[in-house]
Amino acid sequence: MKKYFALLLAGMMALSLAACGGSSAPASSEPAAETEAAEPAAEAEGTEAEAPAADTSAEIKTIEAGKLHMATNAAFPPYEMISDNGGFEGIDVEIATAIAQKLGLELVVDDMEFSSVITSVQGGKSDIAMAGLTVTEERKQNVDFTESYATGVQVIIVPEGSDIKTVDDLANDKMIGVQDGTTGYIYCSDTVENGGYGEDHVTSYPNGAMAIEALKGGKVDAVVIDNEPAKAFVAANEGLKILDTEYIVENYAIGISKENPALRDAVDAALKELIADGTVKTIVDKYINAGE
Ligand code: GLN
Repeated sequence: MKKYFALLLAGMMALSLAACGGSSAPASSEPAAETEAAEPAAEAEGTEAEAPAADTSAEIKTIEAGKLHMATNAAFPPYEMISDNGGFEGIDVEIATAIAQKLGLELVVDDMEFSSVITSVQGGKSDIAMAGLTVTEERKQNVDFTESYATGVQVIIVPEGSDIKTVDDLANDKMIGVQDGTTGYIYCSDTVENGGYGEDHVTSYPNGAMAIEALKGGKVDAVVIDNEPAKAFVAANEGLKILDTEYIVENYAIGISKENPALRDAVDAALKELIADGTVKTIVDKYINAGE
């Protein structure tokens, strides 16, 4: 039944092609204003965890001294979005802020299209890609990944009253909206033989919000996107609903240049500490379980 999404990502779809040359959006921001979730972690350090990530900061090179540049697409709630006061917020932003703090660096958010986040890191324009970024075999060829810190599931959003009731109905000559360069795009645009719907049945948008606008405007029949942003978009837009599906679970992790193993190890160690001491869970709970 769910064969359409029961594909391995391995070896599929050259993201690097799709992503080439993406435009770099305004490059910096104030670091996330609210970092309260990071504070307990800093204190907990005194308890002497095994991996002393912070000690390595002297050797870590980043593209701008003293800063940690994070490539993201800030239209992916609750992982990254623009706050009411114009700054950046979300799960990824807060985790990255806590990591930067552990490494003695200041976080700078580089907001761009999702399809550019990996090339930005590869090209030395950003230090880390953190964008609800799913680990795939294809992407592993281009960047190194840290430990996973969250999971995502691809879901289908349709207008209430849609005749699309199950994943199988997507095959009935429907137009599916996705975000450019995402795993949703990769699954849906693949050939029917491979479990997709074919390129002709997919329209990609630079971000999820634009795909949702297209859905509301009747330009596409459904949107395939990660479950947490899906919930946020459905909550913010009347007349839409998420279909019950049972797709494969994806792991989100941080992508880092293969040419900077010291940074990769330091970020990975800091992330592991933040997972172990509960900081990551506190941040996730703040946005997902307790939020909206
Ligand atoms: N998790 C999906 C992917 O990595 C979508 C991420 C996003 O749109 N920010 O392709």
